[in-house]
Amino acid sequence: MSELKQTTLATDAGAEKDWAAAIAFYDNLKTKIPRPPKPQYAVTIAVSSRTLFNMDAEGKIYEEEGVEQYVAYQEQHETEPLKQGVAFPLVKALMTVNARLRHLYPDSEELFDIVLMTNNHAQVGVRLINSINHYGLTIERFCMTGGKSPIGYLKAYMTNLYLSKDGKKVTEAIEEGIAAATMFTAGNVENQLSDTQLRVAFDGDAVLFSDESEIIAKSKGLDSFFEHEKLFENKPLAQGPLKCFLEALGKLQRKFYAKNERMTCPIRTYLVTARSAASSGARVLKTLRSWGLEIDEALFLAGAPKGPLLQKIRPHIFFDDQMFHIEGAKELGTIAAHVPYGIGQKYDKGKLIEQPAKDTKH
Ligand SMILES: [Mg+2]
Repeated sequence: MSELKQTTLATDAGAEKDWAAAIAFYDNLKTKIPRPPKPQYAVTIAVSSRTLFNMDAEGKIYEEEGVEQYVAYQEQHETEPLKQGVAFPLVKALMTVNARLRHLYPDSEELFDIVLMTNNHAQVGVRLINSINHYGLTIERFCMTGGKSPIGYLKAYMTNLYLSKDGKKVTEAIEEGIAAATMFTAGNVENQLSDTQLRVAFDGDAVLFSDESEIIAKSKGLDSFFEHEKLFENKPLAQGPLKCFLEALGKLQRKFYAKNERMTCPIRTYLVTARSAASSGARVLKTLRSWGLEIDEALFLAGAPKGPLLQKIRPHIFFDDQMFHIEGAKELGTIAAHVPYGIGQKYDKGKLIEQPAKDTKH
């Protein structure tokens, strides 16, 4: 047993040494192409190839005709760019922010860095690279996971946000403390998105914050929830799975403020919560303040549907933990991503769908 553990440790140390050597080698190369920033400075967004590009047609070939036909098809079509996927507008907006940051801070590595996560066959990589170049995206890091869990890679790249179509991998990432969300094929209606400003909208409970208050609302009803929130107004909520991503956005926003560009900042953040302002809003605002985080606009809907408001905001991505909010947003053309975290996963439109495990002890 202990021998096995030692071997694993030795392998880990070896892998770390390899990683350090690779970085050192890369750092010594001279090139005119802008280099990807170092993970410790960058805000790293890991996107799966199926969220960046729409590969539905190709996926069908894989499912119906098998892997050999799929790879052959991708090779035959490798000069044909893949269609844009659901995360594409977000990635494009990240590039816009990077261009502004590079202009203001030519030597800084505090930029967005995109890592493309794919379990595709290496041969399919050529089509991915061609597509990335076709759309003028700067994505230098590819991570071919070969179907294995991406968690190790996400940690090695110090990922600030992971987006995938695979809910299982996303759940695993959240359990490991990595901000992550599941994306779905975009709805039919496409809102016109800003091409000068990245807009990110967050739900509050069980997204930026933990689900501690949501548990009260779900188990004891709204009145108990309001009382609870009043009572604990000055006690900050615990952090939720996406808090660190808001923090990372704030770090980049402050770089614009430092150059007197608050009004023209190309990053804008929104809190879109079903909470009502008067009865339960103060606690979330005070929590954000206690974290030293700002949100540009806080919208308290008091239970009203989120879709129509999001239609006005037109975010590049909206994060929510409850599927019915995601569906409502998608129906009105908003790109929405699901954060599979917290008590809300056990409910559908307010109804319990999964009984909590019964205590068998007496
Ligand atoms: Mg929520």
